[in-house]
Amino acid sequence: MFTPDRFITDRLRAMDASGIRKVFDLAAKLKDPVNLSIGQPDFDVPEPVKQAAMDAIARGFNRYTVTQGTQALRDKVAGLIRAEFTNWNKAEFSTLITSGVSGGLMLALLCCVQPGDEVLMPDPYFVMYKHLVTLAGGTAVYVDTYPDFQLTAARIAPQITARTKLLLFNSPANPTGIVATDAVCREVAQLCEERNILLLSDEIYDEFCYQKAHRRGTPAQDRCPSPAAYGTNLLLLRGYSKTYAMTGWRLGYVVGPAAIVEQMTKLQQYSFVCAPSMAQVAGVLAHDVDMSASIAAYRRKRDRVVERLSGVYDLALPGGAFYAFPGVPARLKMSATEFCARAVEQGLLIIPGHVFSARDTHFRISYACDEKMLERGLDMLVKLAQA
Ligand code: PMP
Repeated sequence: MFTPDRFITDRLRAMDASGIRKVFDLAAKLKDPVNLSIGQPDFDVPEPVKQAAMDAIARGFNRYTVTQGTQALRDKVAGLIRAEFTNWNKAEFSTLITSGVSGGLMLALLCCVQPGDEVLMPDPYFVMYKHLVTLAGGTAVYVDTYPDFQLTAARIAPQITARTKLLLFNSPANPTGIVATDAVCREVAQLCEERNILLLSDEIYDEFCYQKAHRRGTPAQDRCPSPAAYGTNLLLLRGYSKTYAMTGWRLGYVVGPAAIVEQMTKLQQYSFVCAPSMAQVAGVLAHDVDMSASIAAYRRKRDRVVERLSGVYDLALPGGAFYAFPGVPARLKMSATEFCARAVEQGLLIIPGHVFSARDTHFRISYACDEKMLERGLDMLVKLAQA
């Protein structure tokens, strides 16, 4: 008798389905919901980037590329990294083009983490982190970052043990929208260096940063604070999904120590093989497209969220990405799950904190939607707080 259940590994059984998926399933049932749960931009891929991908297909650029990614895109990325981080000019680093930042995260964790290893991550965390650590056979160790959500060295240090292998750092952060300060980036890079821990910096929201570091003042360096400005023994992961709305195109990159990136490249060869060929061609061009208008629009939405919700909710100022993570008012005496269920009854989709955290006291809203929907959602949130 065929028993499908027999084939599922313990590894997979240990993972629960994403809580966000459950909200999406709910959304599919609601008529005209106010949806503040979406984790991707509401604008489309810029026209010249679309055209470049279509031209690449028409020209027959449809085969496997080399595993590490096309020379053109790797050169482009390496040039940008050298311009932004002068300390990397002296470092020997390698570049790998991946199938999204997700692809890079999976390769990094499978290459560097094995049973017995501990992986530090902030709580709240991006949902994928915990599951990829499980997949790699490691143990997730959470660093509580409430109430300001800064993953500081002082919060990390007490959680380090002899088994600590890796730290997952994410700024601007999902789900909180918090941007690590320049000082925090420096102290965390130093701590990891001293304790021989691999820092993995997930900077997928790097362009959606409303609190930049003014390191040197040249435009290339006047960007989001990053631990990469203070260390080179780290893996830096960035992508195209958020900045250029290319979520379905599966493109990202990793730069880091050659010895580690080489192992990741080997694993990519035996798994993803390469990132999509036409996306790699378009990716070179994407870097030269001016996205400032789209980013300014998100900044204005961020300002609107802060204006309407602070005072009403306990809200740590979101300096980047397109999320905010308000606390459910204590006087409502409700968990975030109960609060979000009440919101859903009224047609508003938001995500309860327990999806990203051991606590269930806050909720995530995404302002990656049009202004009208955002205003409707904020009106509903203000009313819900007063209930
Ligand atoms: N890291 C974070 C923090 C994210 O929010 C996301 C997307 N939701 C990813 C990585 C994965 O992005 P990609 O589409 O590049 O795989």
